[in-house]
Amino acid sequence: MAATGEIGRTERVDDYEARFARFLDEDVAELESALAAKDVGTPAVPRLDEAGRMHPEVWEARREVQRRAGAAGLYAPHNSVEAGGGGFSRTEMHHVEEFVYRHSGLGLGLAALAWTEGPNPAIEHCSDAAREKYLTPLVRGEITAAFANTEPDVGSDVLGMSTWATRDGDDWILNGRKAWITNAHYADVLQVVAITEPGAGTASLSMFLVDGDAPGVTRGPDMATMMNDGLTGGLTFEDVRIPADNVVGEIGDGFALAMAWINWRRMCRGGMDAGWGAWLLDRAVEYAARRRSGGAPLADLQSVQHLLAAMDADVYQARATSLVAQARLDELGPYAIPLHPEAPRLISLIKIINDEAFFRVADNAVQLRGARGLELGSPEEKLFRVARNLRIPAGTTQIQRNAIARGLIRDRSPES
Ligand SMILES: Cc1cc2nc3c(=O)[nH]c(=O)nc-3n(C[C@H](O)[C@H](O)[C@H](O)COP(=O)(O)OP(=O)(O)OC[C@H]3O[C@@H](n4cnc5c(N)ncnc54)[C@H](O)[C@@H]3O)c2cc1C
Repeated sequence: MAATGEIGRTERVDDYEARFARFLDEDVAELESALAAKDVGTPAVPRLDEAGRMHPEVWEARREVQRRAGAAGLYAPHNSVEAGGGGFSRTEMHHVEEFVYRHSGLGLGLAALAWTEGPNPAIEHCSDAAREKYLTPLVRGEITAAFANTEPDVGSDVLGMSTWATRDGDDWILNGRKAWITNAHYADVLQVVAITEPGAGTASLSMFLVDGDAPGVTRGPDMATMMNDGLTGGLTFEDVRIPADNVVGEIGDGFALAMAWINWRRMCRGGMDAGWGAWLLDRAVEYAARRRSGGAPLADLQSVQHLLAAMDADVYQARATSLVAQARLDELGPYAIPLHPEAPRLISLIKIINDEAFFRVADNAVQLRGARGLELGSPEEKLFRVARNLRIPAGTTQIQRNAIARGLIRDRSPES
């Protein structure tokens, strides 16, 4: 594929961006105005129903975008061609993600690119039967998924989880509780990580696909966070029967598969933070030119210029880190099992540098607008909360530092 300039920018990225821009104009704009007429909140700041969940009308509008994006071949560029996706590299995906976040802002268009509720690299290891039942409909945007790893008592310490599965003939029986799961309320298929061999270290876990309405699955409670989007909740499993076809990969692969899912989300921070960061910066530059103080635009004040320059420097360094690191990860195999020993440090560098830079960008974006920046539901206020949130899910900032340090020490140990 001919490169057209920047790291990882290819003709098919240009083509994706052109098609995505058309999709925003032709499909998303219409769905967005229909949603606005319903007084149910916005995609980013939805009204919640009595149970605290995203208003069903907002959820349905997102689902319609996903189905249309699936049909248009825009939803799953990150999945392999064999799985029905676009087979894009991670650097290509950086550009795609940056474009989608920068041009959708906080609108419905964000739903057009698979997010945690969509098909992911880990589920590609499923059986042929599960491919037909779950993976293909996920890639087409026809159903949604939830990744259920975290538990009420265990998040970072993945190997300390207590949800377990035992064999019963060819089937598996699942028991336990998961917490803070995105899309717990609505997911058609739950991608659950559970213990199958206690004490076996990284081989102690396995990944299962569980129907969201299988007997023994209870959704809830709603677990509201500062995101306030009504999409996070708990799940309880009581003697849930899982057929052997629904084991992802092999028994004992659960930790590696969970890391494939988590690493996908960590790498996605590059394009997401760069895209949203650039969007906030565009808005800040425009506001500084328009808003006046002392008879002149804010943009004439050096203190405001420095604020804009700080935002630009943060977006630039985060974006550059993402592109350079993801280019190397493309060479190493970003989802290889086992993962190349060099990969975890690079993935954590992407996440920590992007998340911390984006938090500063969002903070400065609020500051520049004064009281308007604090207005509930404004893009700056919402993205400030999003930016604060990003430093916890998919591995906290501290967990990223652990991985970076482990990589450094491994590289410098006499045995390595
Ligand atoms: C909005 C949202 C959506 C989420 N979606 C999902 C989802 O879809 N699926 C899913 O499975 N989970 C999900 N999570 C859970 C998320 O992944 C966990 O919250 C996260 O991994 C941290 O785990 P914890 O909350 O249990 O914190 P803990 O692990 O208890 O950590 C508490 C503090 O201790 C620090 N700490 C803990 N262990 C270490 C260590 N070894 N070294 C250094 N510091 C350490 C942490 O950095 C943190 O500051 C979501 C969370 C939120 C808020």
